[in-house]
Amino acid sequence: MAEQKRDYYEVLGVDRGADDAAIKKAYRALAKKYHPDMNPGDKEAEKKFKEASEAYAVLSDADKRRQYDQFGHAAFEGGAGGAGGFDFSGMDMGDIFGDIFGDFFGGGRSRRANNGPMRGANLRASVRITFEEAVFGCEKEIEITLKDECKTCKGTGAKPGTSPETCTKCGGKGKVMYTQQSLFGMVQNVQTCPECNGTGKIVKEKCSDCHGSGYIASRKRIKVSIPAGIDNGQSVRIREKGEPGVNGGPRGDLLVEVVVSRHPIFQRQDMNIYSTAPISFVQAALGGEVKINTVDGDIVYEVKPGTQTDTKIRLKGKGVPSLRNKSVRGDHYVTLVVQVPTGLNEAAKEALRTFDAETGNTLRTKTAGEEKKKKKGFMDKLKETLDDI
Ligand SMILES: [Zn+2]
Ligand SMILES: [Zn+2]
Repeated sequence: MAEQKRDYYEVLGVDRGADDAAIKKAYRALAKKYHPDMNPGDKEAEKKFKEASEAYAVLSDADKRRQYDQFGHAAFEGGAGGAGGFDFSGMDMGDIFGDIFGDFFGGGRSRRANNGPMRGANLRASVRITFEEAVFGCEKEIEITLKDECKTCKGTGAKPGTSPETCTKCGGKGKVMYTQQSLFGMVQNVQTCPECNGTGKIVKEKCSDCHGSGYIASRKRIKVSIPAGIDNGQSVRIREKGEPGVNGGPRGDLLVEVVVSRHPIFQRQDMNIYSTAPISFVQAALGGEVKINTVDGDIVYEVKPGTQTDTKIRLKGKGVPSLRNKSVRGDHYVTLVVQVPTGLNEAAKEALRTFDAETGNTLRTKTAGEEKKKKKGFMDKLKETLDDI
């Protein structure tokens, strides 16, 4: 091996778990710093720039990154002569540069510019539903602004009677090519035509209904079918209700994010529901039937005699249905909380005193007065004992 290659993550100064955005950000900073245009004649900068570019080319590509994580540099050696260098031939450097340098090579966004059919962008909306609606599913209607093709100009954006002219800058292709000298030789770059924004057409006289955009926006009501088991933050995808496509491409999708309101008693964790239920002191001691709220309505539960506070019970299958299979449901866990009686009348108090006398006699041994008396008695006795000696 000619020279020891540095670890790609180390080159970019990111950790191994870094996401795409972090990798891109790190490379962007290095590339700007070491770019030959910024450092004319500086061999060291050029080396650094190449090294960073190579690291980025690998780590920004999910496949290559996986190979690298598994095999290290060996993943890319051996083939194509194995001269220790990185094989850039299979790589679309134009794409990488378009992505990274789009802004300072004066191109704006220059990704995959062409004027073929292109799918429209996705739209996002949100809808608020109740806890129970999330558990059992529901139908909702939302209102959004949707763009549709302008009927007056049939989406061309040109005033009726006129038609868009072929763009002279790009000859109707929607993209312009330029060649660029780079470290890796001449690189052909493709850029969206700045004149026609990639449409290949120039509208001279604009349609007055859509002001040349070719689209009319209007408020539309859309039905959203929300499946049972959906959780807060999850989205429902409605196909082809997004932005219109370009040049005959399909519409994007509408993604409706579901916001689930908090429930006064139920809490949810994945497919399980959690709640607390009060039981009286007498029910806890003697056992008996208690009413418990569930999402399926109230149920009667038989509490065992001698149930302690904070006892957890499981109501099997009373939880949230699985999004994939409605008939599979989680469980409902209920924490029983023993209530201490308050606001007792004299008869009830007397009954409790009797109860206490029959059981631990706690009233007699634990009151502050009794405790004091007991202590005094002990001290007196101690004194007596000392006197005796
Ligand atoms: Zn129009
Ligand atoms: Zn053009």
